[in-house]
Amino acid sequence: MGFGDKRIAIIGGGLGGMAFANAALYAGLTNIQLYEQAPEFTEVGAGVNITKNANVVLDAYGLKEAMLWKSSHDPQCYMEYRNFKTGEVFGRVEEFGEPSSRQIHRAHLLEAMRSKVPGAILNTGKRLSTIQWLESSREYLLTFVDETTTTADIVIGCDGIKSTVRDHLGFTDHPNYSGQMVYRGYVAYSDLSPATALELRRSVIHRGKQRHILTLPIGNEESETARVAVIGFMTEPLESWVSESWMAKAPVDRLAEQVEGWTGTVQEVIAGLRKSAERDGNDLILKQALYVRDPLPKLYAVEEGHPGSGIILLGDSAHSTLPHQGQGTCMAIESGVALATILKNWKSDSLEDAFSFYQNLRKPRTDKVTQTSYEAGKLASADVPEGTSVEFNAEVLRERMKWIMDYNVLEDVFEKGAPYFEDENIQAQL
Ligand SMILES: Cc1cc2nc3c(=O)[nH]c(=O)nc-3n(C[C@H](O)[C@H](O)[C@H](O)COP(=O)(O)OP(=O)(O)OC[C@H]3O[C@@H](n4cnc5c(N)ncnc54)[C@H](O)[C@@H]3O)c2cc1C
Repeated sequence: MGFGDKRIAIIGGGLGGMAFANAALYAGLTNIQLYEQAPEFTEVGAGVNITKNANVVLDAYGLKEAMLWKSSHDPQCYMEYRNFKTGEVFGRVEEFGEPSSRQIHRAHLLEAMRSKVPGAILNTGKRLSTIQWLESSREYLLTFVDETTTTADIVIGCDGIKSTVRDHLGFTDHPNYSGQMVYRGYVAYSDLSPATALELRRSVIHRGKQRHILTLPIGNEESETARVAVIGFMTEPLESWVSESWMAKAPVDRLAEQVEGWTGTVQEVIAGLRKSAERDGNDLILKQALYVRDPLPKLYAVEEGHPGSGIILLGDSAHSTLPHQGQGTCMAIESGVALATILKNWKSDSLEDAFSFYQNLRKPRTDKVTQTSYEAGKLASADVPEGTSVEFNAEVLRERMKWIMDYNVLEDVFEKGAPYFEDENIQAQL
């Protein structure tokens, strides 16, 4: 049985949608089409850190080589924590085992995932505007802003935190402002002194009061992609945010003035950001208001009387999280393979049962990641008086995150799903 013969429309071709397309092909769902609003597949922002729990999945898709080609290799540690003023190291979280974390430019990760997806499945310039159920033909009619249409049996909403598909499911909640703005940019290693360049070959957080700067050593020398991705989390009132957009640009000065008096490494990073901006002919970096949504009570809807038709959310549309444990994309990767495996192997024709099983498998984990990421943000941007770091304990922090990294979604889905799968002896092809 299963839903392998159903027409599946994936809305959104960001990291979540592209991860689901890979998952679908891996699981054997071939009747898929992906619709992305942008004219081409691209990602802005800084780098992302993809951790063990998600790399296990990407490696199963055969993406290891493509990813490692443009990502960092063999990290020295998971994260090093430094005092914002003195630069002194006060904590280090070691890696969580193989496959270790990979730091990569967002566009390069998207490119690696896209390389596995046939072009015939990918549609750009398709901004979804409405979804309508057609009782006469028993299918969904998807209408795009360019007035073209398509039809599908199952719709997967991978269209991010401002999801249109989500609206269609009737949710009226609003995203919450996290209290922080994020400044993002890149620094060339050649713009840093040799000592600082060496220091920033690992992931480092300079932790100040109610703000922190995260630097990720993305890429590698061989593919000439090595750079420092800079992500500055600054507590700022939303009132000072002039643009209506969540993502805009701001002068490097806006970040610089908030880290005045911070250690020399941070000042070099700021100078490096200025040089990068100058090369682009301006003085700007990305500035984004950081929003998150509360976990949803339900991730899907099915059409009454039509057991094989339904809509479900995946990625940030379903479970957005603050980035303080680097898990938004990782959760989308995990969720993607879980959903595709369930859809392909489900032994009855009830999509309601399959979706419900998926939700029970995923929601406790993604809800917990959302909650613990919020707490991790408080720890990273010390909500304590200047210089105080006594309550910070790297070992405790590592223990806090171990459950995320040590999880193997492929094992979990095949173990828990076996009684409900057509072939209950089917195993993860690890
Ligand atoms: C500062 C920061 C740092 C982060 N660092 C990490 C990290 O280190 N590791 C990690 O795992 N995660 C990280 N994340 C989280 C990660 O960026 C997100 O979880 C991830 O990008 C979500 O992917 P998505 O595809 O679900 O949503 P999005 O990235 O928002 O993609 C949605 C896609 O859908 C398209 N779309 C939207 N509406 C429509 C429509 N109506 N029709 C068609 N297409 C549409 C969009 O154009 C876009 O391509 C970070 C996030 C932030 C903000």
